[in-house]
Order: sequence, then C-alpha cells, then structure tokens
Amino acid sequence: MSVQASSFRGLRAAARVTSASVLAPASRAVAAATAPRVLAPCTGASSSRAAAFSSSALARSEFESPFGVNSLQKFSDEESMIRDTAARFAQEVVAPRTESMDENEKMDPEIIKALFENGFMGVEASADHGGADLSFTSAIIVIEELAKVDPSVSVLCDVHNTLVSTVLRKYASEALRNKYMPQLCEGTLGSFCLSEPASGSDAFAMKTSCKKSADGKSWVINGSKMWITNSAEAEFFIVFAQGDPSKGYKGISAFAVEKSMGVEIAKKERKLGIRASSTCTVNFDEITVPAENLIGEEGKGYKIAIEILNEGRVGIAAQMIGLAQGAFEKSVRYAAERNQFGKPVASFQGMQFQIAQIATEIEAARLMTYNAARLKEEGRPFAKEAAMAKLFSSQVAQRAAGSAIEWAGGQGFTREQGIEKYWRDSKIGAIYEGTSNIQLREIFKRECGTLLSNRSLD
Ligand SMILES: Cc1cc2nc3c(=O)[nH]c(=O)nc-3n(C[C@H](O)[C@H](O)[C@H](O)COP(=O)(O)OP(=O)(O)OC[C@H]3O[C@@H](n4cnc5c(N)ncnc54)[C@H](O)[C@@H]3O)c2cc1C
Repeated sequence: MSVQASSFRGLRAAARVTSASVLAPASRAVAAATAPRVLAPCTGASSSRAAAFSSSALARSEFESPFGVNSLQKFSDEESMIRDTAARFAQEVVAPRTESMDENEKMDPEIIKALFENGFMGVEASADHGGADLSFTSAIIVIEELAKVDPSVSVLCDVHNTLVSTVLRKYASEALRNKYMPQLCEGTLGSFCLSEPASGSDAFAMKTSCKKSADGKSWVINGSKMWITNSAEAEFFIVFAQGDPSKGYKGISAFAVEKSMGVEIAKKERKLGIRASSTCTVNFDEITVPAENLIGEEGKGYKIAIEILNEGRVGIAAQMIGLAQGAFEKSVRYAAERNQFGKPVASFQGMQFQIAQIATEIEAARLMTYNAARLKEEGRPFAKEAAMAKLFSSQVAQRAAGSAIEWAGGQGFTREQGIEKYWRDSKIGAIYEGTSNIQLREIFKRECGTLLSNRSLD
C-alpha cells in the first residue's frame, strides 16, 4: 500500500489544500483493487434508493454566527479537511480489510503503516516532531471517522494519540519529547500500560514495581500489565509502576519504556469484539530503564494517569459515536432497499420511528463528545463532561448497533454483512478507560459531591 507521506504534517499552513489531494492516487488504486463489498439486500435491488445521510456534524467553517458564538457543529478548515480525509481513508484503505482482520483477529500491518504515512498518528503533535499540530477535536474526528468503518483501527489510533503521545507531550522532559515524539509520529506504535490482573477499576492498587538504582542512574521495573491495547505491534510503552507502596497512590511513577529494553509480550486475549485490535499481557522482568525516562516527577504518575484518562474518555466516546453512526448507516441503507409487503421496510412508520429515535440519540452523544473536546481545548474543566460523553456514547452505540441488526432482519445477524460486528465491538465502550460504573461514580462525585462533602466518597 502506497499512501502519500506526511499528508498532515504542517497542515495548518496548507489548510486551503483540498482534501482530494491528500490521499495519493496509489492508495486509490489499492482501494479499487480491493473494493469494499456493498451490503446487498436479498432482493438484489439497486442501491439507487440508498439513504443519503445528512450528518449535521459535517457542516463547514463558513457558517459563522453573527453573534460570535458558534454551534458545536462548527469546525476549522483543518478539522473539516482531516474529517474528509479520514473518512476517505476509512472507506478506501480500511473497509476492504475490516472483515478479514476481524476473522483473523489480527491488524493488517499495512493499515498501521498507512495510518502513520497519512499523519493520523501524530494529530496533536507539533510540526517540529513530525506531527500535524492540530486540535484535540481533530484527533476526536479522526477516531470517529475510523470507527464508522472499523472500531479496531479506531482504538489503535486513539490509544496512540490520546494516551501515549499526549502523556509524552504534556508531561515528559524536553529531552524525552525530542527523543520519542518523532518516532511516535513516524512509525513507532505506542501502548499505555496501567491495568494489571488484580488492578482494573482500582488501577492504583498496582503491583508492578519500580526501584531506583543506588547510583540514581536507572530504574528497574518488575511486574505484569494486562489488557494492553496495541501491545502485539507496539515498540514503545508508557508504564505505570509503584515505587513505594507505603505512600499508596503517591508512590506511583510513569516511565517511557522501549520494547528493546526487554519487554515481553505474553498472552494475547481472544475477544468478543474489536478483535483486530491486539490486547496482550505485557511482562516487565527486571527491565532497566534510564533515569531520564521517568516521565514527570517521581510519585506523580497517578496524576498523569487521572488527567490522561479524562482526555482518553473523550476519545472512546468518539469511537462509540463513530461506531453507532457506521452501524446506523449500513443498516438504514439496507432497510431502504429491502422490500416486504411490496415496499421498502424503511417506509413503515414503525421502522421510521425507531430509526429516528436512534438518530436522535447518536446526535445527542455526538454533541456531548464534541462539547467535552471543546471544553478541554478551552482549558476549562471537562472531566465530568468526558465521563458523561463516554458513558452515554457507549450506551447509544450498543443500542444503535443492536437496532441495526434488527432493522436488517436475518441479514443483520450474519457475519458477512458486517452489521453484527458493530454490536460485538460496541460492548467494549462500557469497559475500557473506566467501566460505566466508574464513569457514573465520577459523574456523581463531580455533579453532587459537594452535597456530601463532609462524608467519605470513595
Ligand atoms: C479490550 C480491552 C482493552 C484494554 N486496553 C487497555 C490498555 O490499553 N491499557 C490499560 O491499562 N488497560 C486496558 N484495559 C483494561 C480496562 O481499562 C479494564 O478492563 C477496566 O478498567 C476494568 O477493569 P477490570 O477488567 O479489572 O474490571 P473490574 O475492575 O474487576 O470490574 C468488574 C465489575 O465491577 C464493577 N466495579 C468495580 N469497582 C466498582 C466500584 N467502585 N463501584 C461500582 N462498580 C465497580 C465494574 O464496573 C465492573 O462491572 C483494556 C481492557 C480491555 C477489555
């Protein structure tokens, strides 16, 4: 697969370039050779009546409010452009491979390569480091567009951008940033290692240890991390480890660890959904890490984890709204073509009301997600809104994907049509980066916590 390199590097300066020039002709040739199968209804009817979906989220930046305050549908030129390009990338490069990657439970390395080549893996990274230097919302838009076609590819991109790169960009020393950010923009995939077999929701109960050497020049990391996304393909790991259990969560530090330092990728999980996304146990057996690879201050790893997961949750919300929209569009297109009782099943009011209900829920989830992203960009508190967006989007994704199966009848239940995959993939939204219960706990604490401020809230 040959895709034009550096598509989004220095994008700010090139904002007026049309998106048509971004994907190289070579990628189109590849896409044409492996064109995605269009969902064909049992009638074999033409696709001419396929629904045209009006996503208000695609509205352009020229829509200016005369009062200087804009809707959540307003995007900069760069954001509109990266949306168009990510959407085309998803259709042309990802869609032809989605089914086989799911069946084989393996990410196609060509997709990872193409994501880097197109600049989707350094969306917020500075141009100096080889990134696109775009907004957080741009990253959210890419994650959303990829998820419309394949939530596995979406989470690969999401973890790399919103967790791994952001930890380095925000908390690492200049030397560490200069060393690793160019690699992370160029072709080195990253993983984020927090969870362990015995510490999931209670992440700070981790057992992985870090011990500083007597001369202070290095750290030794010991332990195992579990459920680590991207780990089968990653060469770089952000690792959280406990240096002094007597200090509780204040003993936790974060490190930049290269695979070549001795990281062992162990058991790969066999999963219900996002099966092309690798999820492995990662072992750190007496791994020696240079002292300068400590990220931020010693004992401040817990703060990094909390803050970064707030951002990450907006990313998962984006994955879920993209997934919901993808399932919705695929199934409604089918329902517009599938005839029963002499007319398209989508022409029955009973179907239309269900479709309209889900469309409304997706729109609400999308607005919550964009709002959380914009709050973050404005430097305002956004943790509650991020938790709400993640909670609600994952619920909507499950409802949308479940309904999509039903709207397509028996065809929706078959693996060939790719609708049931959305439903399988939707389940993870309620689990990673904090389960739904953990989001609810966060929302209650931030919304009503002061009412109980004199009492203990865990
Ligand atoms: C596919 C996949 C990819 C993942 N990727 C990563 C990754 O890249 N990096 C990483 O570090 N981790 C990753 N994780 C781990 C993920 O973040 C954890 O699975 C998640 O935080 C839940 O932890 P747990 O599985 O141990 O469940 P548990 O914490 O054991 O929870 C079990 C149940 O108890 C509930 N529960 C727990 N505590 C409370 C409470 N206080 N109040 C109410 N209910 C509660 C939970 O909501 C849940 O329903 C991934 C997980 C999966 C499945």
